[in-house]
This record gives sequence, C-alpha cells and structure tokens, in this order.
Amino acid sequence: MINSDKHRRAEDCFQILARRPPTPGRRATRAPLGDLSDERRTSLQGRLQKCLSAPLALTLTDNQSTMVSVKRRGGTLRARVHHMFADAPDRVLRALARYIARADRYDSAMLGGFIEGNHWRISRARAAGKRQPALDPKGSVHDLHQILEDLNRRYFDGGIDARVTWGAKAHPRRRQSIKMGSYSVEDRLIRIHPSLDREHVPRYFVEWIVFHEMLHQVFDIPKVNGRRRFHTPEFLERERRFEHYQRARRWERRHLDHLLLG
Ligand SMILES: [Zn+2]
Repeated sequence: MINSDKHRRAEDCFQILARRPPTPGRRATRAPLGDLSDERRTSLQGRLQKCLSAPLALTLTDNQSTMVSVKRRGGTLRARVHHMFADAPDRVLRALARYIARADRYDSAMLGGFIEGNHWRISRARAAGKRQPALDPKGSVHDLHQILEDLNRRYFDGGIDARVTWGAKAHPRRRQSIKMGSYSVEDRLIRIHPSLDREHVPRYFVEWIVFHEMLHQVFDIPKVNGRRRFHTPEFLERERRFEHYQRARRWERRHLDHLLLG
C-alpha cells in the first residue's frame, strides 16, 4: 500500500520562536516531567477549545526555540505549545487561541511578551550540553538517522521533530522478550534495540519499528479506565498505512526467536 501523500490536503503552518536562546551559564533546569503531564495538557486543551470553533489537537512541549507552532490540516488545528502556557492567565490564552485560529500578528506580539516574561522556564539543559544522551544513529548496517529522515518526508510531511539512536549494547543472553523501540516524550528521542543492527534484519523491518515510535509523537496517550493507552485504534490504523506493514509483521513472527537470542 502506498502512503497517503497523493491525497495530501492543503496545510497551513506557522510558529512563534523564542526571541533569545536559553541563558547559558546558569544552572540547567529541565521541566519536571509533571510539567508535561496529561492533566495539564487536557486542561489547557479544554480552555483553548472553548475559544475555538475548529477541533484542536494540542501537544505540550519543552522546546527551547519553538514556543508555539500550528498546523492546520483539513478541519483540525494541530498546535504544539510550550508548557509555560499551561499556567497562563485567561487574557494570554485568548490571544493564544486567536493566534492558533488565524495567526494574527497582534496576538503574536502579545504572546511574545508573555514568552519573554517566562523566559526562565525555557529549558537550558540542551544548550548547556548537560544530560544530553550521546547519540549513535549510524550503526554498522542500518543508518537510523537516514531512515528517520526518509520516513519523515514520506509519511509526515517532515513534521516529526525527533532524534534517533541505537540503544546501548547489552551482554548477549537469552531473553524472554525484546523491546525493539522506545520513544521518550521529554527528550523527543527514539531508541532502537541494537539487535536490529544486523545484516539479516531487513531495512523495511527497522523502518517499521522507527515509524511506530514516530507515531508516538503524533498521537496523544489518553487515560482509559485509569490506564494509559499508548496504542489507540487511531494509532494502529495509522500504523497499518506503513507500506511494508504486513511484510514486517510476517518477518517479525518468523524471526523473533532469532532476535531473542541476542
Ligand atoms: Zn508503541
């Protein structure tokens, strides 16, 4: 199956950047994980949605440069917003909602003022070069960076903002299960299990695993009956659009035993 590029709809895209980079030299602070919690996101989404006529899909970020970015796709507004806005006063939220709806220049200036006043909340960890995991995307067989870029272009209009790396090699042993990939929301980092960096593992299989982790940036993780649901029906439907989905699943069934051996 070919991906839906052919049916790509008109898309608007606009963003507000921080006026200056995080202050170097000061102690690096990361947003506590709680800052990006689903509760805060849901509450902000609810407050913004009240001011909007089109449906809104909101993601909270701990980004350092892009404070607000909006994509209009079909009828849905997709906004990625720095977590500082979760505590913003109503006046600022109304401006944010108007900005999301129409990218008004006046609102953009007003939001710029709010961002400037909350500049200290922009994480400096990355700028200070601290707690930055070392990345190893090249591999000896599969180049994960190249795979990610390629998938980003083919399936996401370049909209995924993530890094990718091979995980650290562990001692070879017989495993009960293997976690082939993971996605860290806070670091926007995809890790792929090093067992997949081998000659006999086909590229389309590695692509499938990377594609799956990329989808975790696109889809929210709702709580259903008190449990987080990572793979919603929408997620799985989208995953099936991967060109080699069936083939990759077949390969996994046939070779899982081999992968478990290390
Ligand atoms: Zn997953």
